[in-house]
Amino acid sequence: MPAVTADTLTLPRLPELAEPTAWRGVHRIIQGRRFLEGEGFQVRRPFPGVDLSLADPFLLLDHMGAVEYGPGEAKGAPWHPHRGFETVTYIIDGAFEHTDSIGGGGLITNGSTQWMTAGAGILHNEMPPQELVIKGGLFHGVQLWVNLPRELKMVTPRYQDIDAHDATLLSSVDGGALVRVIAGSLAGHDGPGVTYTPITYLHATVSPGAQLAMPWPEDFNAMVYVLSGRGTAGEEDRPLDEGQLAVFGPGTALTVRAAGRQPANSPTGWEILVLGGQPLHEPIARYGPFVMNTRQEIVQAMEDYQAGRLGQIPAEHLAHRTSADERLT
Ligand code: MN
Repeated sequence: MPAVTADTLTLPRLPELAEPTAWRGVHRIIQGRRFLEGEGFQVRRPFPGVDLSLADPFLLLDHMGAVEYGPGEAKGAPWHPHRGFETVTYIIDGAFEHTDSIGGGGLITNGSTQWMTAGAGILHNEMPPQELVIKGGLFHGVQLWVNLPRELKMVTPRYQDIDAHDATLLSSVDGGALVRVIAGSLAGHDGPGVTYTPITYLHATVSPGAQLAMPWPEDFNAMVYVLSGRGTAGEEDRPLDEGQLAVFGPGTALTVRAAGRQPANSPTGWEILVLGGQPLHEPIARYGPFVMNTRQEIVQAMEDYQAGRLGQIPAEHLAHRTSADERLT
Protein backbone atom coordinates (compact mmCIF):
# COMPACT_ATOMS: atom_id res chain seq x y z
CA MET A 1 0.00 0.00 0.00
CA PRO A 2 1.55 3.27 -1.12
CA ALA A 3 0.33 5.44 1.79
CA VAL A 4 3.48 7.05 3.18
CA THR A 5 5.65 4.68 5.21
CA ALA A 6 8.71 5.22 7.40
CA ASP A 7 11.02 3.41 9.79
CA THR A 8 9.24 3.94 13.10
CA LEU A 9 12.57 3.80 14.99
CA THR A 10 13.49 7.18 13.53
CA LEU A 11 10.22 8.90 14.45
CA PRO A 12 9.03 10.82 17.52
CA ARG A 13 7.32 8.44 19.91
CA LEU A 14 3.99 8.69 21.61
CA PRO A 15 4.34 9.04 25.39
CA GLU A 16 4.11 6.08 27.73
CA LEU A 17 0.79 6.51 29.52
CA ALA A 18 1.05 6.48 33.30
CA GLU A 19 -1.18 4.08 35.23
CA PRO A 20 -3.89 4.48 36.28
CA THR A 21 -5.17 5.69 32.91
CA ALA A 22 -8.83 6.47 32.25
CA TRP A 23 -9.01 4.18 29.21
CA ARG A 24 -12.06 4.72 27.04
CA GLY A 25 -14.28 1.66 26.92
CA VAL A 26 -15.87 0.40 23.69
CA HIS A 27 -19.40 1.76 23.57
CA ARG A 28 -20.46 0.15 20.28
CA ILE A 29 -19.17 -1.78 17.27
CA ILE A 30 -20.85 -0.78 14.01
CA GLN A 31 -20.64 -2.75 10.77
CA GLY A 32 -20.22 -0.51 7.72
CA ARG A 33 -23.10 -0.99 5.26
CA ARG A 34 -22.54 -1.15 1.51
CA PHE A 35 -23.88 1.58 -0.79
CA LEU A 36 -23.34 2.72 -4.36
CA GLU A 37 -22.11 6.30 -4.80
CA GLY A 38 -21.49 8.63 -7.73
CA GLU A 39 -21.58 6.76 -11.06
CA GLY A 40 -21.89 3.49 -9.14
CA PHE A 41 -18.73 2.82 -7.15
CA GLN A 42 -19.18 0.78 -4.03
CA VAL A 43 -18.53 2.21 -0.58
CA ARG A 44 -18.76 0.83 2.94
CA ARG A 45 -20.40 3.37 5.21
CA PRO A 46 -20.21 2.92 9.02
CA PHE A 47 -22.03 6.25 9.50
CA PRO A 48 -24.46 7.90 9.24
CA GLY A 49 -26.47 5.03 10.61
CA VAL A 50 -29.21 4.72 13.13
CA ASP A 51 -27.67 7.16 15.59
CA LEU A 52 -25.89 10.01 13.79
CA SER A 53 -25.24 11.87 17.06
CA LEU A 54 -22.62 9.23 18.00
CA ALA A 55 -20.42 10.54 15.20
CA ASP A 56 -20.90 14.30 15.86
CA PRO A 57 -19.03 16.42 14.57
CA PHE A 58 -18.59 13.94 11.68
CA LEU A 59 -21.43 13.38 9.24
CA LEU A 60 -20.34 10.56 6.95
CA LEU A 61 -17.50 8.09 6.42
CA ASP A 62 -17.28 6.36 3.03
CA HIS A 63 -14.64 3.65 2.62
CA MET A 64 -14.02 3.25 -1.13
CA GLY A 65 -12.55 -0.15 -2.03
CA ALA A 66 -10.05 -1.57 -1.79
CA VAL A 67 -11.09 -2.67 -5.26
CA GLU A 68 -9.13 -3.92 -8.26
CA TYR A 69 -10.76 -2.24 -11.25
CA GLY A 70 -10.65 -3.91 -14.65
CA PRO A 71 -10.20 -1.77 -17.79
CA GLY A 72 -13.18 0.63 -18.13
CA GLU A 73 -14.57 -0.12 -14.66
CA ALA A 74 -13.24 2.79 -12.59
CA LYS A 75 -15.98 5.22 -11.59
CA GLY A 76 -16.22 8.60 -9.96
CA ALA A 77 -18.65 11.29 -8.91
CA PRO A 78 -19.45 13.82 -11.68
CA TRP A 79 -20.20 17.49 -10.99
CA HIS A 80 -22.37 18.05 -7.90
CA PRO A 81 -22.79 20.76 -5.24
CA HIS A 82 -22.13 20.92 -1.49
CA ARG A 83 -22.99 23.42 1.24
CA GLY A 84 -22.56 23.58 5.00
CA PHE A 85 -19.65 21.25 5.78
CA GLU A 86 -16.21 19.96 4.70
CA THR A 87 -15.30 16.91 2.60
CA VAL A 88 -11.97 15.24 3.30
CA THR A 89 -10.72 12.75 0.70
CA TYR A 90 -7.76 10.50 1.55
CA ILE A 91 -6.54 8.23 -1.25
CA ILE A 92 -4.34 5.31 -0.23
CA ASP A 93 -4.05 3.44 -3.57
CA GLY A 94 -4.95 4.64 -7.04
CA ALA A 95 -6.10 8.20 -7.69
CA PHE A 96 -8.97 10.65 -7.90
CA GLU A 97 -8.85 13.76 -10.04
CA HIS A 98 -10.66 16.60 -8.37
CA THR A 99 -11.89 19.82 -9.93
CA ASP A 100 -14.05 22.51 -8.36
CA SER A 101 -15.82 25.74 -9.19
CA ILE A 102 -13.37 27.96 -7.25
CA GLY A 103 -10.33 26.88 -9.27
CA GLY A 104 -9.12 24.27 -6.79
CA GLY A 105 -8.28 20.74 -7.74
CA GLY A 106 -5.58 18.28 -8.55
CA LEU A 107 -4.66 14.65 -8.38
CA ILE A 108 -5.30 12.97 -5.04
CA THR A 109 -3.11 9.87 -4.92
CA ASN A 110 -0.83 7.56 -2.92
CA GLY A 111 -1.47 8.86 0.58
CA SER A 112 -2.42 12.44 -0.20
CA THR A 113 -5.47 14.19 1.19
CA GLN A 114 -7.72 16.83 -0.24
CA TRP A 115 -9.56 18.98 2.23
CA MET A 116 -12.46 20.90 0.73
CA THR A 117 -14.43 23.34 2.82
CA ALA A 118 -17.72 23.67 0.93
CA GLY A 119 -18.99 26.37 3.30
CA ALA A 120 -21.44 28.67 1.51
CA GLY A 121 -21.31 26.56 -1.63
CA ILE A 122 -19.16 24.84 -4.19
CA LEU A 123 -19.48 22.55 -7.21
CA HIS A 124 -16.93 19.81 -7.71
CA ASN A 125 -16.24 16.51 -9.38
CA GLU A 126 -14.18 13.58 -8.23
CA MET A 127 -13.19 11.28 -11.11
CA PRO A 128 -10.67 8.52 -11.73
CA PRO A 129 -7.85 9.69 -14.03
CA GLN A 130 -8.03 8.49 -17.65
CA GLU A 131 -5.14 6.09 -17.10
CA LEU A 132 -6.99 4.30 -14.27
CA VAL A 133 -10.16 4.14 -16.39
CA ILE A 134 -8.36 2.73 -19.42
CA LYS A 135 -5.96 0.30 -17.76
CA GLY A 136 -7.83 -0.45 -14.52
CA GLY A 137 -5.94 -0.97 -11.26
CA LEU A 138 -6.11 -0.86 -7.50
CA PHE A 139 -8.25 1.85 -5.89
CA HIS A 140 -8.57 2.43 -2.14
CA GLY A 141 -9.58 5.59 -0.32
CA VAL A 142 -11.80 7.25 2.22
CA GLN A 143 -14.08 10.27 2.21
CA LEU A 144 -14.99 11.88 5.51
CA TRP A 145 -17.56 14.66 5.97
CA VAL A 146 -16.86 17.08 8.82
CA ASN A 147 -19.70 19.28 9.96
CA LEU A 148 -19.36 23.04 10.36
CA PRO A 149 -20.88 24.90 13.31
CA ARG A 150 -23.87 27.13 12.59
CA GLU A 151 -21.81 30.34 12.46
CA LEU A 152 -19.39 28.86 9.87
CA LYS A 153 -21.78 27.04 7.53
CA MET A 154 -21.71 29.93 5.05
CA VAL A 155 -17.95 30.54 5.28
CA THR A 156 -16.02 31.19 2.03
CA PRO A 157 -15.12 27.87 0.32
CA ARG A 158 -11.52 26.72 0.81
CA TYR A 159 -9.29 24.03 -0.63
CA GLN A 160 -6.25 22.38 1.00
CA ASP A 161 -4.03 19.97 -0.88
CA ILE A 162 -2.14 17.83 1.66
CA ASP A 163 0.67 15.75 0.20
CA ALA A 164 1.37 12.29 1.66
CA HIS A 165 4.74 13.55 2.87
CA ASP A 166 3.13 16.48 4.70
CA ALA A 167 1.50 14.10 7.21
CA THR A 168 3.08 14.19 10.66
CA LEU A 169 4.59 10.76 11.33
CA LEU A 170 4.78 9.30 14.83
CA SER A 171 5.60 5.94 16.37
CA SER A 172 3.91 4.05 19.17
CA VAL A 173 5.90 3.62 22.40
CA ASP A 174 7.70 0.46 21.21
CA GLY A 175 7.89 1.24 17.49
CA GLY A 176 5.23 -1.33 16.59
CA ALA A 177 2.80 1.15 15.03
CA LEU A 178 3.22 3.94 12.50
CA VAL A 179 0.84 6.87 12.94
CA ARG A 180 0.16 9.45 10.21
CA VAL A 181 -1.50 12.55 11.65
CA ILE A 182 -3.48 14.12 8.80
CA ALA A 183 -5.32 16.78 10.78
CA GLY A 184 -5.59 17.92 14.36
CA SER A 185 -3.12 16.93 17.00
CA LEU A 186 -1.94 13.78 18.78
CA ALA A 187 0.09 14.04 22.02
CA GLY A 188 1.09 17.60 21.05
CA HIS A 189 2.12 16.75 17.47
CA ASP A 190 0.07 18.74 14.95
CA GLY A 191 -0.96 17.39 11.55
CA PRO A 192 -1.03 19.57 8.41
CA GLY A 193 -4.80 19.82 7.86
CA VAL A 194 -6.40 23.05 9.04
CA THR A 195 -9.88 22.47 10.42
CA TYR A 196 -12.65 24.77 11.57
CA THR A 197 -14.23 22.24 13.88
CA PRO A 198 -11.63 20.87 16.34
CA ILE A 199 -10.91 17.26 15.30
CA THR A 200 -8.10 14.73 15.09
CA TYR A 201 -7.83 12.43 12.07
CA LEU A 202 -5.11 9.84 11.64
CA HIS A 203 -4.20 6.65 9.78
CA ALA A 204 -2.20 4.05 11.68
CA THR A 205 -0.50 0.85 10.55
CA VAL A 206 -0.22 -1.46 13.55
CA SER A 207 2.21 -4.38 13.14
CA PRO A 208 0.86 -7.86 13.89
CA GLY A 209 0.54 -8.26 17.68
CA ALA A 210 1.49 -4.65 18.44
CA GLN A 211 -0.41 -2.25 20.72
CA LEU A 212 -1.20 1.38 19.93
CA ALA A 213 -2.05 3.49 22.99
CA MET A 214 -2.81 7.19 22.58
CA PRO A 215 -3.78 10.07 24.85
CA TRP A 216 -7.07 11.49 23.57
CA PRO A 217 -8.76 14.80 24.45
CA GLU A 218 -11.48 14.27 27.01
CA ASP A 219 -13.89 16.62 25.20
CA PHE A 220 -13.56 14.75 21.84
CA ASN A 221 -15.53 11.71 20.83
CA ALA A 222 -13.38 8.79 19.64
CA MET A 223 -13.80 6.20 16.89
CA VAL A 224 -11.61 3.61 15.18
CA TYR A 225 -12.47 2.33 11.69
CA VAL A 226 -10.72 -0.68 10.15
CA LEU A 227 -9.49 -0.29 6.54
CA SER A 228 -8.02 -3.81 6.49
CA GLY A 229 -6.85 -6.52 8.82
CA ARG A 230 -8.03 -7.48 12.26
CA GLY A 231 -7.43 -6.47 15.84
CA THR A 232 -9.13 -5.54 19.07
CA ALA A 233 -10.36 -2.29 20.60
CA GLY A 234 -10.10 -1.13 24.20
CA GLU A 235 -8.69 -2.78 27.30
CA GLU A 236 -11.55 -5.25 27.01
CA ASP A 237 -10.13 -6.50 23.66
CA ARG A 238 -13.32 -6.27 21.60
CA PRO A 239 -12.67 -7.84 18.18
CA LEU A 240 -12.61 -5.26 15.39
CA ASP A 241 -12.32 -6.37 11.77
CA GLU A 242 -12.21 -4.80 8.32
CA GLY A 243 -15.24 -2.59 7.64
CA GLN A 244 -16.12 -2.20 11.33
CA LEU A 245 -16.18 0.97 13.44
CA ALA A 246 -15.59 1.06 17.20
CA VAL A 247 -17.23 3.97 19.01
CA PHE A 248 -15.54 4.62 22.33
CA GLY A 249 -17.07 5.96 25.54
CA PRO A 250 -15.62 8.68 27.82
CA GLY A 251 -12.04 8.75 29.10
CA THR A 252 -8.63 10.30 28.42
CA ALA A 253 -6.86 7.61 26.39
CA LEU A 254 -7.43 4.97 23.72
CA THR A 255 -5.85 1.60 23.26
CA VAL A 256 -6.09 -0.88 20.38
CA ARG A 257 -4.10 -3.96 19.42
CA ALA A 258 -3.46 -5.70 16.09
CA ALA A 259 -4.10 -9.42 15.91
CA GLY A 260 -0.97 -11.56 15.75
CA ARG A 261 -1.94 -12.98 12.36
CA GLN A 262 -3.26 -10.72 9.61
CA PRO A 263 -5.22 -11.69 6.49
CA ALA A 264 -3.47 -11.81 3.12
CA ASN A 265 -5.04 -8.53 1.98
CA SER A 266 -3.39 -6.66 4.88
CA PRO A 267 0.24 -7.80 4.80
CA THR A 268 1.67 -4.68 6.50
CA GLY A 269 -0.49 -5.10 9.59
CA TRP A 270 -3.78 -3.71 10.84
CA GLU A 271 -4.72 -0.56 8.90
CA ILE A 272 -6.98 1.74 10.91
CA LEU A 273 -8.32 5.27 10.92
CA VAL A 274 -8.60 6.95 14.30
CA LEU A 275 -10.86 9.97 14.46
CA GLY A 276 -12.60 12.19 16.95
CA GLY A 277 -13.68 15.76 17.52
CA GLN A 278 -15.62 18.18 19.64
CA PRO A 279 -19.33 17.43 19.19
CA LEU A 280 -21.29 20.45 17.93
CA HIS A 281 -24.61 19.48 19.60
CA GLU A 282 -26.57 21.40 16.96
CA PRO A 283 -29.69 20.38 15.03
CA ILE A 284 -28.91 18.78 11.65
CA ALA A 285 -31.03 19.16 8.53
CA ARG A 286 -29.55 17.21 5.63
CA TYR A 287 -30.62 16.55 2.10
CA GLY A 288 -28.14 14.84 -0.23
CA PRO A 289 -25.11 17.09 -0.60
CA PHE A 290 -26.41 19.85 1.72
CA VAL A 291 -26.09 19.77 5.52
CA MET A 292 -27.58 22.71 7.39
CA ASN A 293 -29.32 23.37 10.72
CA THR A 294 -32.91 23.87 9.55
CA ARG A 295 -35.20 22.66 6.79
CA GLN A 296 -35.63 26.24 5.59
CA GLU A 297 -31.86 26.47 5.05
CA ILE A 298 -32.00 23.27 2.96
CA VAL A 299 -34.76 24.75 0.78
CA GLN A 300 -32.62 27.88 0.39
CA ALA A 301 -29.59 25.75 -0.59
CA MET A 302 -31.61 24.01 -3.32
CA GLU A 303 -32.91 27.34 -4.64
CA ASP A 304 -29.40 28.80 -4.60
CA TYR A 305 -28.02 25.74 -6.42
CA GLN A 306 -30.71 25.92 -9.10
CA ALA A 307 -30.03 29.66 -9.53
CA GLY A 308 -26.31 28.98 -10.01
CA ARG A 309 -25.33 30.70 -6.76
CA LEU A 310 -23.25 27.71 -5.54
CA GLY A 311 -20.90 28.16 -8.49
CA GLN A 312 -20.60 27.22 -12.15
CA ILE A 313 -18.85 24.33 -13.87
CA PRO A 314 -15.78 25.92 -15.51
CA ALA A 315 -16.30 26.10 -19.30
CA GLU A 316 -13.09 24.20 -20.12
CA HIS A 317 -14.31 21.27 -17.99
CA LEU A 318 -17.63 21.17 -19.77
CA ALA A 319 -15.64 20.68 -22.99
CA HIS A 320 -13.31 18.17 -21.33
CA ARG A 321 -16.19 16.11 -19.95
CA THR A 322 -17.85 15.93 -23.35
CA SER A 323 -14.74 14.65 -25.12
CA ALA A 324 -14.03 12.17 -22.31
CA ASP A 325 -17.57 10.83 -22.52
CA GLU A 326 -17.29 10.39 -26.27
CA ARG A 327 -14.05 8.48 -25.90
CA LEU A 328 -15.54 6.03 -23.44
CA THR A 329 -18.92 5.34 -24.95
MN1 MN B 1 -18.67 15.57 -3.30
